[in-house]
Amino acid sequence: MTTNVSTVPAYAAPAANAPLERTTVPRRPVGEHDVLIDIKYAGICHSDIHQARDGWGEGIFPMVPGHEIAGIVAEVGPGVTRFQVGDRVGVGCFVDSCRECEYCAQGLEQYCTRGMTGTYNALDENGEPTYGGYSSHIVVDENYTLRIPEGIDLDEAAPLLCAGITLYSPLAHWGAGPGKKVAIVGLGGLGHMGVKIAHAMGAEVTVLSQSLKKQEDGLKLGADHYYATSDPATFTELAGTFDLVVSTVSAPLDFNAYLGLVRTGGALVNVGAPEEPVSLSLFSLIGGRKTLAGSMIGGIAETQEMLDFCAAHGLGAEIEVIRGEQINEAYERVLASDVRYRFVIDASTI
Ligand SMILES: [Zn+2]
Ligand SMILES: [Zn+2]
Repeated sequence: MTTNVSTVPAYAAPAANAPLERTTVPRRPVGEHDVLIDIKYAGICHSDIHQARDGWGEGIFPMVPGHEIAGIVAEVGPGVTRFQVGDRVGVGCFVDSCRECEYCAQGLEQYCTRGMTGTYNALDENGEPTYGGYSSHIVVDENYTLRIPEGIDLDEAAPLLCAGITLYSPLAHWGAGPGKKVAIVGLGGLGHMGVKIAHAMGAEVTVLSQSLKKQEDGLKLGADHYYATSDPATFTELAGTFDLVVSTVSAPLDFNAYLGLVRTGGALVNVGAPEEPVSLSLFSLIGGRKTLAGSMIGGIAETQEMLDFCAAHGLGAEIEVIRGEQINEAYERVLASDVRYRFVIDASTI
């Protein structure tokens, strides 16, 4: 048994590079295993802007971005067992995957061999476009829905669904913790969560930022040290220091210089995605048995683990809450790095 398809208010980009405007989009009926979520907040991720402006290739338009969604369950399908009406829930970057491949079986749905189904700018199993969180409601399979524990406000929780897990996953995978020296490159929406999470994991945390402009913030967020990468002395002073360097910047880095900061046996992990190819001398790796790696968000189980970890440590994102009509202005401010540290849309204004 299902309810009828309904149309819901949303902000959408009607075409690539067009400003977002208020419109309506269809939501599918609540199916057997679906939950209908009354969206309370949706974070603005840098990748929303990339995709709405078609930086990653062919986009599906109209596009409703938003994959940092926090809200309340408003209705559940008859087969739903994990959620009840009134539960606090979140949705991240994907809403489905093949559920059969070796990666899905391991809870690594983000690396599904068929490809995960994006929360927006994707086609669902019926070939219908998915629409993201800049909207009043969304219908999602319960298996791709996260529980947001009490102890994190929903507005501060929303950015955890992308920015939080994007940093948590590599920090956990590469063993950030007591006795480990971790550097976070870039103190933006991603980087500020990296600092908070790495600090809560017990690592010694260094921020590597272009300038010292945000130093006071960085130390307040939990960093032990703060260095400017515009100062060449940083790269000599910190040579061979870090067990793990996580780069959150999407501008191409001088990878040889950053690998010089990594200890023998350590890793430089990229979660930012420069659009241009990068150049690398393999001697930067060979000389110290170093790893250059990438990491993309996290699976459903790990995302839940991250939310529980953040709640246990009282961690949420640093946010600026905006109204729907401020989305386009917020995009410009994100591109100008003029946000500390994440815009979150109040969905009641959509
Ligand atoms: Zn994102
Ligand atoms: Zn799969």
